[in-house]
Amino acid sequence: MNVLEHVPLAPLTTLGVGGPARYFVEAHSESDVREAVQFAQIRDIPLFVLGGGSNLLVSDAGFSGLVLKVSLCGGNCTANGNDVTFQVAAGDNWDAFVAHTVEEGCAGLECLSGIPGSVGGTPVQNVGAYGQEVSETIREVEVLDRQSLPVKTFTNSDCGFAYRTSIFNTTERNRYIILHISFALRRGGEPTIRYADLQKTFAGATGPPTLLQVRNAVREIRRNKAMLIVPGDDDARSAGSFFKNPVIPQRQFEDLDIKLRSRDLILPSFPASDGFRKLPAAWLVEHAGFAKGYSRGAAAISRRHALAIVNRGGATAAEIIALKNEIQSRVLSEFGIQLQTEPVFLGF
Ligand SMILES: Cc1cc2nc3c(=O)[nH]c(=O)nc-3n(C[C@H](O)[C@H](O)[C@H](O)COP(=O)(O)OP(=O)(O)OC[C@H]3O[C@@H](n4cnc5c(N)ncnc54)[C@H](O)[C@@H]3O)c2cc1C
Repeated sequence: MNVLEHVPLAPLTTLGVGGPARYFVEAHSESDVREAVQFAQIRDIPLFVLGGGSNLLVSDAGFSGLVLKVSLCGGNCTANGNDVTFQVAAGDNWDAFVAHTVEEGCAGLECLSGIPGSVGGTPVQNVGAYGQEVSETIREVEVLDRQSLPVKTFTNSDCGFAYRTSIFNTTERNRYIILHISFALRRGGEPTIRYADLQKTFAGATGPPTLLQVRNAVREIRRNKAMLIVPGDDDARSAGSFFKNPVIPQRQFEDLDIKLRSRDLILPSFPASDGFRKLPAAWLVEHAGFAKGYSRGAAAISRRHALAIVNRGGATAAEIIALKNEIQSRVLSEFGIQLQTEPVFLGF
């Protein structure tokens, strides 16, 4: 295990913001991970697990503990008829893995194409997009318990998946280091076309599209919204959506809807769990008066997606936070809704 010191973290994140890590280890094996945990325990310093840094805002001061970048790679696949199980290491690139499953003709992850980051980062917030969530296909998650160091295997239901949450970012936050994940996919299965943008894309088609066509369509929709990382596209220098879509009780939705109709505004919404409605956070942000492209110093709202806060070049974490606070407080005063942030904050 090679321990580095004072390592800049900004280049290891998609937002490109923030200060250094006091200590930094890149783990290529389970024993590296174990040693890193012991290194932090002996010195009694905090440990932060880093994947692809695509859902992360690092403070300007950086992090005074140990950052452990999980770079375990490799995988295998076993089949029982058309039911195929892919076991993948946490450090593998997510989109490359999705591309592989599509090439193999296995359905289940095609709508999650183009999401940056590592395989190990996906269960943490139950990554979802365009009609699929990883919780629909994750079979098991193998983890190292930072408290007592054994390796454990969680089944799907142990993970407590819900909209943008799991035990890994709620009840058991900072306890487990994800090492491997197995996904149960279906060879020859049809792609999922639940999402309106995808339904529109394939509306005139005779017969169902292929998995590859769906993957390409998702990546194209993402590219247009700067939600695909393309070198040189400064609207894609973000942490993805900065705010979650609020889920509010039906009653609160109805009251708000009546209020907004009197201002000639129709509040869009989607069904959520029983007695709740999900609201598009992007609509709330824009109708609170923030146009796409709005900026505050070098921090800005993406010109192509109202939910992404971007670094226009040289932004500080303080500028990003100031813009986030401004958006949250205006949405709260306009609509009475407290927007919850989606990225993880480190070193604040
Ligand atoms: C342009 C863009 C588009 C995006 N689109 C989407 C989208 O459509 N849907 C969506 O859900 N998200 C989206 N995201 C957010 C992000 O890509 C995902 O949440 C991704 O899964 C994060 O993985 P990561 O490896 O980058 O995690 P990091 O950002 O490195 O870490 C995020 C959290 O996961 C934890 N973590 C990471 N790896 C491990 C591990 N091995 N063990 C334990 N904990 C770990 C970290 O400690 C941290 O708490 C987008 C981001 C960007 C920049």
